[in-house]
Amino acid sequence: MKNIDNTNEIEAKKQLNIINELKERYDSEYVRTGRRKTYHIETFGCQMNSRDSEKISGILKQIGYIETDTEDADFVLYNTCTVRENANNRVYGRLGYLGMLKKKNPDMLIAICGCMMQETTAVEKIKRSYPFVDIIFGTHNIFKLAQLIRTRLDNNNGSKQSERMVIDLWKDTDMIVENLPNDRKYPFKAGVNIIFGCNNFCSYCIVPYVRGRERSRNLEDILAEIKLLADDGVIEVMLLGQNVNSYGKNLNPQISFASLLQEIEKVNGIERIRFMTSHPKDLSQELIDVMGASKKICKHLHLPLQSGSSRLLKIMNRKYTKEDYLDLVARIRKSVPDISITTDIIVGFPGETEEDFMETMDVVKKVGFDSAFTFLYSKRTGTPAATMDDQVEEEIAKERFNRLLDAISESSAKAAGRDEHSVVDVLVEEVNSQNDSLLTGRLSNNMLVHFEGDRDLIGKIIPVYLKESKGFYYIGTPVDGEY
Ligand code: SAM
Ligand code: SF4
Repeated sequence: MKNIDNTNEIEAKKQLNIINELKERYDSEYVRTGRRKTYHIETFGCQMNSRDSEKISGILKQIGYIETDTEDADFVLYNTCTVRENANNRVYGRLGYLGMLKKKNPDMLIAICGCMMQETTAVEKIKRSYPFVDIIFGTHNIFKLAQLIRTRLDNNNGSKQSERMVIDLWKDTDMIVENLPNDRKYPFKAGVNIIFGCNNFCSYCIVPYVRGRERSRNLEDILAEIKLLADDGVIEVMLLGQNVNSYGKNLNPQISFASLLQEIEKVNGIERIRFMTSHPKDLSQELIDVMGASKKICKHLHLPLQSGSSRLLKIMNRKYTKEDYLDLVARIRKSVPDISITTDIIVGFPGETEEDFMETMDVVKKVGFDSAFTFLYSKRTGTPAATMDDQVEEEIAKERFNRLLDAISESSAKAAGRDEHSVVDVLVEEVNSQNDSLLTGRLSNNMLVHFEGDRDLIGKIIPVYLKESKGFYYIGTPVDGEY
């Protein structure tokens, strides 16, 4: 049997060599032209994609590119999402514009990667309609980016644009290539992948088809990465996976997600631990107990409900009932009383009746979510739900969607002011994007607070008095200030 760990190490070395080789090429070009090449990444979709974009950015910076915030760049890369149909349409819409830019700058490189590229029909459409795209790769081989760039640069021979296109797509993988460059967005907080892929096959969801089967990273590799991050000034980590609760099930020996959290809790310098996403079916009592006892795990749980109807949950293949979900929330709240619970809900799943929808509304009322991402069901070709024949009419789904939004706004408004007039620990994250005389920080429960303060506070955890709730955020004052 192939030694995967060894293969991964060899692959990492190979990629680092290619990165260095390209760096030499780009450096000598810089000496010649006096200009560094620029890159721009447009990231669609979830936090896993944002994390992948940091890896892409790390490789590009190491090669010698510098980042720019417009698509008028030497290298533009779209990291795509395909969870809903409109995510795909947005990419096609913007590709037309990129084509125009490339006419002005024929040396420009365009790459598309991410979940949408794992779908044959999307790749076929790009080959046909957007032949100016230079590189296409998927979710499993991001680590190969430097190699793909080199192949494209060395392949200037084809007479047609489309003949020069480099396409590298893998159906699935068991490889986890570690220790390649990385470009963190924030110096003080970082996302850390703990498990890739998904085995759950919820009947509406494309993710298992485009992200492959579950692969947990080794405990030692995760801890080593987090220790390095802590040494580098990171105080908050966000553990990432489609279903973090099934972490460790495919490792030998097996280890639970709760045990992983306990190990991370021991890392000096790490003060906050977040994770996303938790599938309700795998959220164990062990995890609830660990969360209750922890000093570092944040008081926020994102727990996607999808539907409140046990009948629909069964057809969705979620493997829990409405009652299971409510019981889980009650047990979590008992162990962590001040926790904030957020969720994902889909409206208009095939066969959803008014009664099913009212079950969802009932859960929203009973749980009192702090906030929710609400989605209109989107048919994804290849998933079982796409061929179910009782698709809900758009009008009906939209009307339910609006009612759900009202109910969520009501429950968020109730939850929002909970901590008003108290002093809480806040991680100061950045200068406020609307008003640069203010700083913005994040509470343990993920709410934001804006306050006046010195920019030196960014990256620190400080006590802030929450003077006033404004619904989705607070206005506050650091406690050593006036209030
Ligand atoms: N793994 C996470 C989980 O199971 O909770 C969610 C990952 S998915 C990227 C994020 C959300 O997109 C899901 O929770 C679901 O609400 C929504 N979603 C997935 N497929 C969808 C579809 N076909 N139509 C509408 N929403 C969808
Ligand atoms: Fe999709 Fe379900 Fe996997 Fe989440 S758990 S990624 S919703 S299949």
